Amino acid sequence: MHPDLPKLLDVQLKDRRLAELDVRAQAIAAEHATLDALLERARGEVASTERTLTDISRRRDEAEQKLETQRTMHERRKLKLEQERNPRVAAQLLADVELGRNILAQEENEWLRMADDVAARTAAAKASKDRLTAAEGEQAGARKALHDQSAVLAGEVAAAQAERDASSAHLDKTLRLRYDRLRKSRKNEILVPAEKGTCTGCYTAIPRSRIGALVADGILVDGCEMCGAIIYMAEVVA
Ligand SMILES: [Zn+2]
Repeated sequence: MHPDLPKLLDVQLKDRRLAELDVRAQAIAAEHATLDALLERARGEVASTERTLTDISRRRDEAEQKLETQRTMHERRKLKLEQERNPRVAAQLLADVELGRNILAQEENEWLRMADDVAARTAAAKASKDRLTAAEGEQAGARKALHDQSAVLAGEVAAAQAERDASSAHLDKTLRLRYDRLRKSRKNEILVPAEKGTCTGCYTAIPRSRIGALVADGILVDGCEMCGAIIYMAEVVA
């Protein structure tokens, strides 16, 4: 048996452990992202309701100013009417006062409608803020749990990485570089057992010319010609 075969399998075992821990880390990150997205949506609603409130408040204030100006003008017209002695001019002024009164009443109605709207939008803005605060409160527990899980996981990863490094330190240097390069390029495992003269990484038959070396060493360090996996014989290490 090739002396590095058990060492390689040992490194692969440690890498398997690291991969499992990585899956857990990704699950934690995904839960975190879900919580973040919920808060983000609630913050977006707060911003949107506040924008609407600011906008409608500004329009109400503008309407109020306009109304104020028109009230003043209306009062002036009324005063002018009272002082007018010429009946022809007075009749025209009276028509202006009547018209002004109608317009003023319309504008007042419009202002009242806006004031109601501001009240409704104020309530909506407060409700969206309350929802955000509630969501933050509801998430506190879940976030604490995720934080704790992350801390525990970080410890496990550090330990697993140290174990992996210790194992790979025993490997022949060329083999270690080869293994690490394969680890970066392959999604699946690097060492795969041969089964009935076939690479189980890609289910391609191993050429006759290489079977001899495989049987003698228990491993084909050069790797499968099709998928690059390092092929070994499970019977040898069993
Ligand atoms: Zn293969």
